[in-house]
Amino acid sequence: VNTNEQRSENSGRVWLVGAGPGDPGLVTLRAVEALARADVVLYDRLANEELLARAPASALRLFAGKKPGRHAMTQDAINAALVEHALAGRRVVRLKGGDPFVFGRGGEEAEALRAAGVPFEIVPGVTSAIAGAAYAGIPVTHREVASSFAVVTGHEDPARAATRVDWAALAQGPDTLVILMGVGNLAEIADRLLAGGRAAETPAAIVEQATTPRQRTIVATLGSLARVAAEQQATSPALLIVGEVVRLRERLAWFERRPLFGKRVLVTRTREQSSGLK
Ligand code: SAH
Repeated sequence: VNTNEQRSENSGRVWLVGAGPGDPGLVTLRAVEALARADVVLYDRLANEELLARAPASALRLFAGKKPGRHAMTQDAINAALVEHALAGRRVVRLKGGDPFVFGRGGEEAEALRAAGVPFEIVPGVTSAIAGAAYAGIPVTHREVASSFAVVTGHEDPARAATRVDWAALAQGPDTLVILMGVGNLAEIADRLLAGGRAAETPAAIVEQATTPRQRTIVATLGSLARVAAEQQATSPALLIVGEVVRLRERLAWFERRPLFGKRVLVTRTREQSSGLK
């Protein structure tokens, strides 16, 4: 037996796990397995809290926060906690919304683990960029409508000029654009795409809280997007989808059309039954 391997068997390890976009059914078997064996779960705001119930009752649950502008833990503190618990021999699940490597800073956490010599595994997740569109009845590609898509951040770090989004190139490039973290900058994003040559009549959709019972989809055009979003008071978390594929929603919307969608269902039950029926 390789002694190094033996040591990593016995010592702690971190799983960087995608929690999916919101609906707790959209999580992988591997994620559930990792949770079931966790000693520590460090989770984000966008990770569905119902998934936490999959961890043993004895597991330590730590909230990492990440409300825009209001972090419960800084990224450095998150990295340090992952390293510390793993080096103490614990199995740590880092639960992140969607996919950990799609605007989830999973790569940075993996680098910190690597630097500290902590073994880690990546459990990819269902990203909101694709699943959220699907729940709104919008396929990101469609034969003869869109043969490419790009997933883009709408919230740039001004300090990182090297990776600045080239909106003019995107205006001419991929057929479908899926913009995450863009709700606060809708007017500017639309202006830049229009300036880059995307037609004002290009359909655009905002999908709020996709895959959850609070999902709401707002449809506009690139030209009317900022006005319609303001009228409808679009709020985060939401996806912005720009491209001809948005038109397919007229025929393919399904989630919001299920019989009980958006209804409040009152179920009376005794306190003893409550957790099982939740
Ligand atoms: N790693 C995540 C993305 C993290 S960035 C993923 O793969 O999905 C956070 C952004 O993702 C939010 O600002 C929003 O744009 C988007 N997002 C995440 N969950 C969402 C949801 N349920 N509905 C709509 N947008 C969502």
